[in-house]
Amino acid sequence: MIVASIGNLNFDIYLKVSELPGPDENVEALDLYTGGGGSAANFAVAIAKMGLSARFIGAVGEDPLGEISLRELRAEGVDVSFVKRVRGVRSGVVVVLVHPDGVKRMVSYRGANLGLTPADLTVDKFAGVKHIHLATGRTELILKAKEIAREIGASISVDGGTALARKGLEIVRAAVEGVDVVFMNHVEAQLVANAGDHKSAVEKLARELKVGELVVTLGPIGAVAFKNGRLLHVDAFKVNAVDTTGAGDCFAAAYITMYLRGRDLYERLLFANAAAAIKVTRPSARASPRYDEVVAFLES
Ligand code: ATP
Repeated sequence: MIVASIGNLNFDIYLKVSELPGPDENVEALDLYTGGGGSAANFAVAIAKMGLSARFIGAVGEDPLGEISLRELRAEGVDVSFVKRVRGVRSGVVVVLVHPDGVKRMVSYRGANLGLTPADLTVDKFAGVKHIHLATGRTELILKAKEIAREIGASISVDGGTALARKGLEIVRAAVEGVDVVFMNHVEAQLVANAGDHKSAVEKLARELKVGELVVTLGPIGAVAFKNGRLLHVDAFKVNAVDTTGAGDCFAAAYITMYLRGRDLYERLLFANAAAAIKVTRPSARASPRYDEVVAFLES
């Protein structure tokens, strides 16, 4: 079963610092490490680990970092044969300052990622695809992918992140109308709904959005899903979290795996919470678990 993931691919550079630089200041990093990033790419890796065929649809520049990013995806079993090469632009890079206060400080260069346009989303790239996932806030890509999904009879999910949430309710509503599964974290849900807490945000979005399922992740307190007038909350698992980066992408991939297997809402949420719980115990955005690891975790 092929699942296509559309959106960003980044090369993440982490710099561990004990202090933050002020204006005109230079601080020495204590450590440097790199890793693959970009929500859509992370989702594709998590899908491959779930045992499904993952196809990543995105764009890189003609530069060494882009080649490394693609090699990493290939090594995880992701099909990158439809990735666009954009001339004269560098591939997406994110620099993350890792400070002992635990607050994330990131500078993103979207670069070649922006070179992916709706015109690049052609039916031939989706041959054999059963499900299309969009991890992007770019509404023009979401709208085009909805057309493709309709044309090929695939199901479709959207995780627009903060970029989509910032566009406000009207734009979000139009972008996700008719989508099978919409993912948001609670901060994004509150932002879109203009609500002070996640409960009223979910209630408002459940009324406003015409989607098959709305899934809102709540970090260490789990996730809620709304479908056919029914709201279901499933608690997160208690684990020792060391790195939550990519937890949302891992959660979405595990949820979609259960969705495609025809499992009910409770099983989808339970399995996705379990997968994401394992992910947060491991460093790196792509450290999502394999399908059998999640099964073993649930049986333990
Ligand atoms: P990110 O942007 O870091 O990928 P997110 O903000 O999209 O994450 P969260 O709501 O923080 O998503 O987390 C997604 C899921 O990961 C949660 O619904 C939960 O299942 C799991 N999770 C996150 N943090 C923890 C934690 N501390 N303990 C257990 N599970 C967690």
